[in-house]
Parts: sequence; C-alpha cells; structure tokens
Amino acid sequence: MPDKPKVAFYWCASCGGCEEAVVDLAEDILKVVEAVDIVLWPVALDFKRTDVEAMADGSIAVAFINGAVRMSEQEEWVHLLRRKAQLVVALGSCAHLGGIPGLANLSSREEIFATNYRDVASLDNPEGTVPLERVKVDGEELTLPAFFDTVRTLDQVIDVDYYLPGCAPPPDLILGAVSAILKGELPPKGAVLAPNKAQCDVCPRKDTKPDRTAISEIKRVATSIPDPETCFLAQGYVCLGPATRSGCHERCIHGNMPCRGCFGPMDGVYDQGAKFLSAFASVLAPKDEAGIEALLDQIPDPAGTFYRFSLPSSPLHRRRMAS
Ligand code: SF4
Ligand code: SF4
Repeated sequence: MPDKPKVAFYWCASCGGCEEAVVDLAEDILKVVEAVDIVLWPVALDFKRTDVEAMADGSIAVAFINGAVRMSEQEEWVHLLRRKAQLVVALGSCAHLGGIPGLANLSSREEIFATNYRDVASLDNPEGTVPLERVKVDGEELTLPAFFDTVRTLDQVIDVDYYLPGCAPPPDLILGAVSAILKGELPPKGAVLAPNKAQCDVCPRKDTKPDRTAISEIKRVATSIPDPETCFLAQGYVCLGPATRSGCHERCIHGNMPCRGCFGPMDGVYDQGAKFLSAFASVLAPKDEAGIEALLDQIPDPAGTFYRFSLPSSPLHRRRMAS
C-alpha cells in the first residue's frame, strides 16, 4: 500500500481556536486521519522538533500553520516546516493577516513588557522582573525565545502557497482544502480558499441595506441591542461586511453581531481597513471635516475596529517606532 500523504499542523501566535476548528471536524476528522498521516500536531500529539528535523526536505505534503509570527521559536519552526513541506497553508486570520495578536503592533516590545510585568494593578512583581532571553540559574544558562518588536504574518516570514481565512476557519473550508489537496485540485498558488464575494453579497440582511444611508450616530453592541433583521450599517453599527470576504456562513450576523472582518479582504484589495473606511465615509451624514471627526470620535478604538484582524498585513503594518 503506498504511503499516505504526510500532513503537519503547527501554531504560532494565536489563541488556539484554529486548532479547535480542526477538532471541530468531528466525525469528518476520521476521514482526514484515514486519508493522511499526521506527522506533527502539537496541540494533540506528542511529536518533537527533532522528529521533524529528521524528515527529508519536501517529505510533508502540506503544513497547515496557524498564528502570526511573534517569537524567534515560531520563526525557526516555520522555516523548518517550509523546508519539509511541499505546500504551506496559512490557517486562520492570524497567519493570514496578523489577526488579533497583530494589534500588538500598536505598541513596542518595551511597552508590552511594562504593561504585563510592571503596570498591571493586580501584579505582585516588586523587582520588576521581565522575561530574559538568557539567564543563569545555579550556574546553568537557561534560554527563552526572543520576543520580537513586531508581529508578522506568515507570508512576511516564509513563502505561503494558500490561505484559509477566518477566526477560526470553518470546518467545511478546512475539509474542502484537505480534500482539494489530496485530489490535486488546487487553484493557482497564492489563492485564498474561500469565495471571492463580500459578506454583504451573501448576508441574510442584504435586502435591508439601503443604497444610500446617512449615519448620524454610531452605535455599539456593548451599549445597545441591534434590530435582528436590519442591516447593521443602516442602523449605525460598524459592520465590516462591505470589505470582508464571505465563506464563514455569516456566523456573526446570525448571532446579531456585526462582521468584524476576520475573513480579510477580497482579491485585489490592498488594505481591508482603508477599503472599509472609504465605503463607510460615503454613508456618514456629516459632509464637513468637523462633523465627520465628531462622528468618528464616537468609535473608541478606530485602529482596533478597522484593522482588528489585518494590521500587520496592511501597508500601515505597525505604529511608527522611535528610531
Ligand atoms: S453591512 Fe453587514 S449587516 Fe449590512 S448587508 Fe453588509 S454584512 Fe450584512
Ligand atoms: S461575520 Fe465577519 S467577523 Fe464574523 S466570522 Fe464571518 S468574516 Fe469573521
């Protein structure tokens, strides 16, 4: 019997939800396990880095890597997997666009360490100890991976063949990608393995989205409950549907939450946040600069709202650092 194709899963800076999405394949995971030989899956199986290092280059058919690259250990792992795998798939928003961990690009490494190890009110750390890359303990040197200043998307570190978007990618998209790979029925390299249509095109509320609307108050789901049938934008809620790829089965919309943009932009869109802002600006009631500014001031965290998942992948990339 010929060897089954080898598949690796790995996670970098992420919450682990993409790994859960693989587990969410439920009984379909058995079809995957039957068809492939899983050679790395740190969340579920105890393989070691030396196991992967010992494999021939190119001997893994596909590596699914989730998470952004924030630490030196992750950078080393993704280079290793790139060498060993014929195909690399960026799995989920963080690998694809930088994701929520990418919002750390609004701060420097020093600011992040100061917040987490010095300034947090509940902290008891009188000596202000922070993680060090090297430290001597009883004459032995201990090491930790380096914590980079900037969070990067997977394709800012290694060559990526395909992208499976979403926070987390839905199990049917994962299963579809696995079976397309096994059958050799893949689109051109670089494709995002989800429909190239906007959320608004498939949204169950799309018929209530007016051609022209004039938002004079920005509402937030934290302080008011949206009407469950009407387009969020028409009600004054920020919904990134116009600038976000579909394929998630509109799961937030069905939960009466506006789209936050986790599927990223459609093909050809350079900057998801800017694309949304341009659509959004056209539906604001005020047309003068002061009025627009006053309205936008009602959004407490504009960067986190418009670039929630995509900051590292955008041309903005990160806050400018003092040189
Ligand atoms: S803006 Fe949001 S709620 Fe309105 S149609 Fe688009 S995805 Fe649906
Ligand atoms: S509705 Fe938007 S934020 Fe929610 S899962 Fe779909 S793409 Fe992601």
